Amino acid sequence: MIDTDEYKNILLSLREEYEHKIGAISADVHHKNEPVEKDFAEQATQRENDDVLNALKEDAKQVIAQINSALHRIETDEYGICTECGNEISEERLKIVPYAALCIECAEKSD
Ligand SMILES: [Zn+2]
Repeated sequence: MIDTDEYKNILLSLREEYEHKIGAISADVHHKNEPVEKDFAEQATQRENDDVLNALKEDAKQVIAQINSALHRIETDEYGICTECGNEISEERLKIVPYAALCIECAEKSD
């Protein structure tokens, strides 16, 4: 039997962490977009950096969305059950990916 209270706490602090990350990235992108005189090469590098930061931000948003649905599954007593096949997700996996919606078999299949 999974201790959902424990995972709820883990998920909540993980969400906080990612929200903080997004905040930090947003501040960084904003700062870099300030109009400054730059040569073309520098501007190109800047653009790449911003793309990387935006990609990181998108990743973080995705994780938060997964955390939110995991929290929802805790409320509805579906936490730790694969949303694909209905089998239990091993605690071993949940310890590594507490917001996992799929069991290891289904996760590997969808890769
Ligand atoms: Zn599955």
